[in-house]
Order: sequence, then structure tokens, then C-alpha cells
Amino acid sequence: MVVDPVCRMPVDEQKSRWTSRQGDRTYHFCSPGCKRIFEVKPERYVK
Ligand SMILES: [Zn+2]
Repeated sequence: MVVDPVCRMPVDEQKSRWTSRQGDRTYHFCSPGCKRIFEVKPERYVK
């Protein structure tokens, strides 16, 4: 399990349908809404 960087919900990366690549990392989201929020300002969520 990984954590959705936007809402902090645990997400199963095997089943995750919404992902975004930033550099060499892939982030997983619980919903298309979280993915969209992330992609507007990824630097807010990426450390
Ligand atoms: Zn989420």
C-alpha cells in the first residue's frame, strides 16, 4: 500500500487506476479528483 499524497488515504498500488509520474517516481491516487489536484501543483505534495 502507498499513500495518496493529496488526501493521505492508503491506496493499493496494484489496483490503483489513477497515477501520475513526476521525475522517476510514480504517485497513486484514490480518485481522478485527487490526481487532478496533484497535477495542478505537484510541487506542493512532492518532497
Ligand atoms: Zn485521494
